[in-house]
Amino acid sequence: MSNNRIYLCLAHMSEAGIEQKYIQEAFDTNWVVPLGPNVNSFEADLEQFVGEDKRVVALSSGTAAVHLALIACDVQPGDEVIVQSFTFCASSHPITYLGAKPIFVDSEKDSWNIDPELMEEAIKDRIAKTGKKPKAIVPVALYGMPYDIDKIMEIANRYDIPVIEDAAEGFGSRWKGHVLGTFGKYGVLSFNGNKMITTSGGGALVCPDKEAWQKIMWLATQAREAYPYYQHEAIGYNYRMSNICAGIGRGQMTIVNDHINHHKHVFELYKELLKDVKGIEVHGNPDERYDANFWLNTITIDPEIHIKGQENAYKIIVQGAVGGAAGVVHATDSAHTDCEPNNNVEALRVWLDERGIEARPLWKPMHKQPVYKDASAYVNGVSEALFKVGMCLPSGPYVNDEDVKYIVERIKEAIV
Ligand SMILES: *Cc1c(COP(=O)(O)O)cnc(C)c1O
Repeated sequence: MSNNRIYLCLAHMSEAGIEQKYIQEAFDTNWVVPLGPNVNSFEADLEQFVGEDKRVVALSSGTAAVHLALIACDVQPGDEVIVQSFTFCASSHPITYLGAKPIFVDSEKDSWNIDPELMEEAIKDRIAKTGKKPKAIVPVALYGMPYDIDKIMEIANRYDIPVIEDAAEGFGSRWKGHVLGTFGKYGVLSFNGNKMITTSGGGALVCPDKEAWQKIMWLATQAREAYPYYQHEAIGYNYRMSNICAGIGRGQMTIVNDHINHHKHVFELYKELLKDVKGIEVHGNPDERYDANFWLNTITIDPEIHIKGQENAYKIIVQGAVGGAAGVVHATDSAHTDCEPNNNVEALRVWLDERGIEARPLWKPMHKQPVYKDASAYVNGVSEALFKVGMCLPSGPYVNDEDVKYIVERIKEAIV
């Protein structure tokens, strides 16, 4: 899937082709099923990587990991779950799968992630309004940036609410030296094709102990009871990772640190090359406690900056959608919604697109999504304001120094 275009973050296999070796092994030993030696070894690799004595279950997707973590936290129909609004839909959709209600909480300015004070306000207000505590809290490491997990855990512990860390974008990011996904009760990882490492599609759940690990494993394999025949006493899911995908994952674990270092290097380069460009800010670690993986590098663009062609922004309806699977999306008859990136951001996206560079707006906050129009939200304006001015830039393993220089030159040219 590569030509001369510069993409945000494409899957990248090890030079040595280790992924193929493990896939071949799966065929040779006839382990072409959703369990097997590659799955076990991949889980062991992940446990070693995250450390902290955690247990890991490899799953078919990060979304499945969110879903199972919510079930393990006993989220039932009608329950409420606090979730960061500034995220990709996979953080909140599984709450809806369970018939529960997402309660969206806005972000802090520095990290772009859940605002702990607003989160506590939301907890208090939900208790006052419903007489019940939210069942779980889901902070999200947006673009790989850590959340203030110290404050989040202090509040969550005070109210005795479990935390499910959505570290799908933050694989290998650290808070005070510890890997994200290991602070809360559960930690969500994703190995989709565009994440820090890939298994083509896949995810994992970081579990606190053997007991939790067994429960997740059981739920992920259709909740089978120990009888010689199929006996079912609970509803389960077919969410286990395939042995073929896990073979890719094992190969990817041999280069994960190279990938993370590369993303960080690309961040440093953007920061350096854009430092004198007025009105464009590169989003960096707020202080030394944060150690982002810079899965996607992001910039914000001052509304005062004028971009060539911005008078024509939004004049054409977008064909296809961002990341739409096989181009399958609903057609739209209007180029506008009531909450969209500024004209200069859209103009810069188009400008870069025409020059072979994939750029993308920031994720639109969930509390502004029509599908969640009836959900409760505790907002402070931060995520909405960032959505209007922000942009993701190419950051993956195929993006080299020349590419970053080319991208920055094109950005400078675009500014009038
Ligand atoms: C990608 C992602 C997920 C889900 O992962 P999949 O493997 O794509 O199902 C969950 N949360 C966030 C924030 C993500 O970016």
